[in-house]
Amino acid sequence: MARNLDPKCRQCRREGEKLFLKGEKCFSDKCAVERRSYAPGQHGQKSGARLSDYGVHLRAKQKIRRVYGVLEGQFRRTFKEAERRKGQTGENLLQLLEARLDSVAYRMGFGASRNEARQVVRHNGVLVNGRRVNIPSYTVRPGDVVSLTGKARAHLRVKAALEAAGSRGLPEWIAVDAKEGKGTFKAMPQRAELSPTLNEGLVIELYSR
Ligand code: SF4
Repeated sequence: MARNLDPKCRQCRREGEKLFLKGEKCFSDKCAVERRSYAPGQHGQKSGARLSDYGVHLRAKQKIRRVYGVLEGQFRRTFKEAERRKGQTGENLLQLLEARLDSVAYRMGFGASRNEARQVVRHNGVLVNGRRVNIPSYTVRPGDVVSLTGKARAHLRVKAALEAAGSRGLPEWIAVDAKEGKGTFKAMPQRAELSPTLNEGLVIELYSR
């Protein structure tokens, strides 16, 4: 399975903000964005370099891709599906990304980051409505119950992630029974419930050029 192997913290520094790609480290003072809040690379500290209009649109798209850990091809396909669906394309796009099984598993606390949650999914650690699904891009539907297998639940990392997610608070569209290691994807998240720093409007403009 293809995935983005760029160093995680470098991706955050490129976007100029925390994308929370590394689990607990992101909430500590070891976070690279906290320590070096300039872009990576030799010319990273040359702030003030203005982006072209295309550059602004590109950065907006890359940021969303990186937050959800999706490669370009899959992102394009998700965008197409968002266009096809009723409603606003931008909101549909973010909802579809949030409804990915790896993202839902992350939101439920089955992994400390989307990447870790994806690994749990890939390693057959997750059931959807009682059936094993090991495809991270699988689209979870409202009302679906996502649970951990007994083996996955016993993992220390999973236990720690569940605990950390519980103490930080869960999003509105998710309900979790941490003891049982299962949760319900109650509904698609509303736009207002998602990060205001994501600019899906620019993605629409970029793809319609
Ligand atoms: Fe990004 Fe987390 Fe690394 Fe901070 S620690 S730069 S939020 S991946």
